[in-house]
Amino acid sequence: MSAALIAALRAAVGERHVWTDPDQIAPHLREDRRRWTGEAIAVVHPGSTEEVAACVRACAEAGVAMVPQGGNTGLVGGGVPRGGVVITTGRMNRIRSVDPLNATITVESGCTLASVQEAAAEAGRLFPLSLASEGTCQIGGNLSTNAGGTGVLHYGNTRELCLGVEVVLPDGRILNELSALRKDNTGYDLRDLFIGAEGTLGIITTAVLKLFPKPATKVTAFAGCAGPEAALAIFDILRARAGDSLTAFEYLERFGVEMVLAHLPGARDPMTEAHPAYCLIELSSPDPDADLEARMENALAEAIESGLVADAVIGRSEAQNAALWSLRENMSEMQKHYGASIKHDVAVPVARVAEFITTGVGLCRDYMPPVRPCPFGHFGDGNIHFNLTRPVDMSDAEFLSHYPRFNRIVHDLVASMGGSISAEHGIGLAKRDELPRYKDPVALALMASLKSAIDPQNLMNPGKVLAPATEGTR
Ligand SMILES: Cc1cc2nc3c(=O)[nH]c(=O)nc-3n(C[C@H](O)[C@H](O)[C@H](O)COP(=O)(O)OP(=O)(O)OC[C@H]3O[C@@H](n4cnc5c(N)ncnc54)[C@H](O)[C@@H]3O)c2cc1C
Repeated sequence: MSAALIAALRAAVGERHVWTDPDQIAPHLREDRRRWTGEAIAVVHPGSTEEVAACVRACAEAGVAMVPQGGNTGLVGGGVPRGGVVITTGRMNRIRSVDPLNATITVESGCTLASVQEAAAEAGRLFPLSLASEGTCQIGGNLSTNAGGTGVLHYGNTRELCLGVEVVLPDGRILNELSALRKDNTGYDLRDLFIGAEGTLGIITTAVLKLFPKPATKVTAFAGCAGPEAALAIFDILRARAGDSLTAFEYLERFGVEMVLAHLPGARDPMTEAHPAYCLIELSSPDPDADLEARMENALAEAIESGLVADAVIGRSEAQNAALWSLRENMSEMQKHYGASIKHDVAVPVARVAEFITTGVGLCRDYMPPVRPCPFGHFGDGNIHFNLTRPVDMSDAEFLSHYPRFNRIVHDLVASMGGSISAEHGIGLAKRDELPRYKDPVALALMASLKSAIDPQNLMNPGKVLAPATEGTR
């Protein structure tokens, strides 16, 4: 049966775009962090929507599972195959059109995020989605995980940046919802079903995305403070003073900053003294006359007078701004030098984010006193990467054996605050078995019904998001 399927896939996309050699397919069977390693009979690289549809039809007829894969930068195991065929989108990397007046860009799902940003910039516009993985991750993956990043505070998640999608359904039909309209009230919103579905309902092949005016002025500041409570008060001041020009408000703690300073070549501490925590603040505006520096200085002066900010620096050039951002963007990567990490990508209402960090750190230290908490992230969205680094004198394996216990501590706290156990990375395999504990049972049942209505054979990325027991037929 495998041989017949491989022949059908080769007929669909051409011999050299169907890989079966174990060495060649190995990188597609695991994520970067190597938390999961899967298996697949083949990895196929279709070059068009029609070729994706032909591959899907071949798999559906053979009753073989399919796993969509973009840049494979996901962090929750969503793209790791458990058998079947991996269908990648990397060859589908054309920018189909840019319409500056309609403020839209139409792109194939295999375009990297960076290439979409560049195409928008060439047209004098901004595509505001921004992630540290942007050179590798692809638009199809961004949509399927409803990716967040550093621009959410002002521009919203990927969902809010998308007007239309084209999707190959699990039976091979092509759904054309490629609307470039701001208003379209013609029944159920099918587009939004596929955004954030993590490839369980179909393969996104093309998307219409929103563009924005390009910022003409930008100012970045780094402010040292006592901890999350001070950071929340600083955020409130910035929001009141800067309003719509506040485009990012990120939070870092000293332990994480020290990791970057110690291991990122060229990184330097922007301040003369160490502080327990820092806020990375960005203001931007399309108005070239907007005096953002004065706005930032006034807000920080108020925060200093209130005793909230101990010291602050403002980037005076692109290079200085980039150096400040690099302290934040490299934090996750630099953690690797300190042994295993237990990571939680969670969200709580913004008003409770400081309380969450303080309580969460306390509960984790009660459970394991020498654990080294490293919370950081998109504070202004209420989204914290609540990472825990292993104690100095513990092995990685022993520390990771406590993953379930730390999950329980952190996720129960998040739930008690009306939060979410997945803010931006998705469910995949990592949180699949946690979901039933925290998700409304009616919502979960509806998700299972939708899954079995759209994918009755349960062939599209099976076993992700929904545990097999709550899925439809198989
Ligand atoms: C250094 C680093 C920083 C990161 N920072 C952020 C961040 O700030 N915010 C954030 O949200 N994420 C972040 N991520 C996670 C990751 O980059 C995002 O989830 C990204 O959107 C995944 O895109 P991808 O193309 O790599 O998708 P993949 O990893 O290939 O796939 C992710 C999921 O989407 C599905 N999928 C992929 N393509 C399609 C398609 N065309 N149609 C249907 N389903 C599809 C897969 O089956 C899988 O379930 C980061 C990752 C790294 C490594």
